[in-house]
Amino acid sequence: MSNILVTGGAGYIGSHTVHQLTQRGHQVTVLDDLSTGFRDAVPEPQLHICSLFDTEQVTHLLQRLQIDAVVHFAAFIAVGESTQEPERYFTNNVAGSLSLFSAMAAAGVKKLVFSSTAAVYGNPLSTPIPETAPIAPVNPYGETKATVERTLEWLDRCRGLRSVRLRYFNACGANEAAGLSERHVPETHLIPLLMKAVVTGQPVTIFGTDYPTPDGTCIRDYIHVDDLAKAHIAAIDHLLSGGPSEVFNVGTGRGFSVREVLAAVEQVTGRPVPHVFGPRRDGDPAELVADSSKLRARLGWNPDHSTLHQIVASAWPSQQRRWA
Ligand code: UDP
Repeated sequence: MSNILVTGGAGYIGSHTVHQLTQRGHQVTVLDDLSTGFRDAVPEPQLHICSLFDTEQVTHLLQRLQIDAVVHFAAFIAVGESTQEPERYFTNNVAGSLSLFSAMAAAGVKKLVFSSTAAVYGNPLSTPIPETAPIAPVNPYGETKATVERTLEWLDRCRGLRSVRLRYFNACGANEAAGLSERHVPETHLIPLLMKAVVTGQPVTIFGTDYPTPDGTCIRDYIHVDDLAKAHIAAIDHLLSGGPSEVFNVGTGRGFSVREVLAAVEQVTGRPVPHVFGPRRDGDPAELVADSSKLRARLGWNPDHSTLHQIVASAWPSQQRRWA
C-alpha cells in the first residue's frame, strides 16, 4: 500500500475518492485550503489545510510523508464564473498546479493523477467523443485544464513525471453510506437543482428546448461519483505498477436528455418537479457523450453505479436534507 496525497480532497469528487483510496488500504493525506471544500468531508487526522501556492510547505509535506503519488483535484470548476473572472481561474488552476508540480519535482514525486474535464473538447464535431478528438475549449475553465494537460505532457518528457489525465463527463450522485454528498455553492448542476425544486416548490429552469436532439433538450453523459472515484483507483494502480502516462475519458458512453433526467427524478422522489422552460444557457453544446472504451480496455474499469435510476436514488436522501 502507498502514501497518497490528494489535493482538493475536501471537495465533491475528491472526498469520494479519498474514501475509496482509504478503503483500499492506502495512507491518504488531503491537502485543501477549504476555499470550496468542506472540513467535515474528510476525517480530521487526514486533513492538512494549506494553499497549493505555498510551494515550500507542499514540498516539506511530500518529503515528510514520503508521498508515492499525488491525485490533483484542487481547482475552480464553475464554467460561467470562469468567463467572468478568467484571470482568477488561470491563476488558481494553472499557476496553482505549477506550484504543486514544482514541489513534486523538488521532492522527487513522479506520479500524478489529474482531474481534467470533457470541457477540453469544447463543441465536439461528433459524439461519442474519443480521447483523440481535437482539444478546443470554449471557455476559460476548459482552457485552464487543457493548459495543465499540455504542461503534463512536457513534464513527462523533461522530468519523467508520469501522469494519468482523467476527463470527466457529468459527475453526479452521492455515497450516502459514507456520509458524502454534492453541495456546490452556488449550485449550478442539474440533478441537485431538480431536487431543490421538488423540496422547495420553486421551479427549476430547463435551459433550451430547441436543441437538435430527439426531445429538444441537451444530452449529457451522467457518471456516478463513485464510478469516477473508481477510475482514480485504477489510475493510481496503473501508475504504481510502472505504467506510462495516459489520458482517459470517464463516462458511461450513454447519454440522457434533461427531460429524461427530470422524469427519473419524478420517478425516484414520487413527486412532480416544478419546472419552467427558458432560453439556452451560453456555451452548452447539444450533446456530450464519452467514448470510454479506452478506459475500459486499458484499465479494466466499468461503471457499476451509473444507471440513471442508481444515480438519482443515491443523490435524493442528501439533497432532500440539503434543501429542506
Ligand atoms: N441544466 C438545466 N437547468 C439547470 C441546470 C442545468 O436545464 O438549472 C441543463 C444544462 O443546460 C445541461 C444539463 O442540464 O444541458 C447539465 O448541466 P450541468 O450544469 O449539470 O452540467 P454541465 O453539462 O454544464 O457540466
